[in-house]
Amino acid sequence: MSSPQIIIVGAGVIGLSTGITLLEGGFTNVEIVSQAVSPDTTSDIAAAIWRPTHVHSEHLLKFCEASLEKLKALSEIKSSGVKYVTRTEFYREFKEPVWHGLLEKTKPAIKKPKQYEHEISYKVPLMDTSIYMNYLMETFKKLGGKLSKQKINSLQDIKAEVIVNCTGLGAKECATDSSLYPIQGQVVVVERPARLTASIAAPEDFIYIISRNKDCIVGGTAEANNWQTKPDLKLAKTLIQRASELCPAIAKQKVIKHKVGLRPGRLSIRLESEWDAEGNLLIHNYGHGGAGHSLSWGCAKAVLELILFG
Ligand SMILES: Cc1cc2nc3c(=O)[nH]c(=O)nc-3n(C[C@H](O)[C@H](O)[C@H](O)COP(=O)(O)OP(=O)(O)OC[C@H]3O[C@@H](n4cnc5c(N)ncnc54)[C@H](O)[C@@H]3O)c2cc1C
Repeated sequence: MSSPQIIIVGAGVIGLSTGITLLEGGFTNVEIVSQAVSPDTTSDIAAAIWRPTHVHSEHLLKFCEASLEKLKALSEIKSSGVKYVTRTEFYREFKEPVWHGLLEKTKPAIKKPKQYEHEISYKVPLMDTSIYMNYLMETFKKLGGKLSKQKINSLQDIKAEVIVNCTGLGAKECATDSSLYPIQGQVVVVERPARLTASIAAPEDFIYIISRNKDCIVGGTAEANNWQTKPDLKLAKTLIQRASELCPAIAKQKVIKHKVGLRPGRLSIRLESEWDAEGNLLIHNYGHGGAGHSLSWGCAKAVLELILFG
């Protein structure tokens, strides 16, 4: 049987992981069309550590498990930009997240500051987006996928047997989904303190420090319905100062750049299929909030299953 023509709209982490999963799943005619590609997507701005936040789905645990399995395999490929790091979190009041049991516990990276009551520490995948996004694009192309830049005004303008909508916040317009909203996030990229290799966070206060190979991401904010993408330099100073209370070395680091991104917020991830008027299969895969990097492979697997089994 010949492979159907599949067009994926969107080349963020969701579109790319979906494209790779479909090609690895045996489909041969897969193309991505996208208005922006890496390094100009929201997925490039992400921190991007494995930690599902600001996201909802009844299948969350299933997406987490499948994504962790794939990211573990990718962490064994040096050029992927994925590696396991220690993540230490401090809380005044700790409520165990549903996915907590999936992670391997480890020793804390630093001593607990006195303003917090609880500490937890575990090993998680960290995707260095400056490497990972390009790795995903190259892998997609090596597997035979085609990628082109184009803005789609409406999904109805695309003609293919299977269309997969991975447009993130863009689905507000091209899929006329008024329930999507931006969750604005600002971070500061600073030089990495020499001895800091872990990720340290106080999630209740939305403070996080994520050490990558060459730099460190200091965050952050999560402001619903804020469309502003220009960095607020006064806020950036506050982010540095708050992070320095957890890790004093941060205060002395040189600022490399400021980044602002709009997470695709939604009541629930939209992962479902429908038939268009011409009998083509349209699958939606968007609305991943602050968790696109954490859930992408699990959601991509669900898209593959929808095409194969309906
Ligand atoms: C500051 C910040 C920190 C974050 N940290 C983390 C983290 O630590 N861990 C984590 O898991 N997640 C994190 N996230 C969230 C993560 O970045 C998002 O969930 C993820 O990027 C969503 O991926 P996406 O592919 O759906 O969207 P995008 O990356 O926005 O990609 C959408 C794609 O669709 C294209 N597109 C849109 N509309 C159209 C159109 N009309 N026609 C053609 N193409 C179109 C765009 O050009 C783009 O290529 C963070 C986000 C921010 C902002």
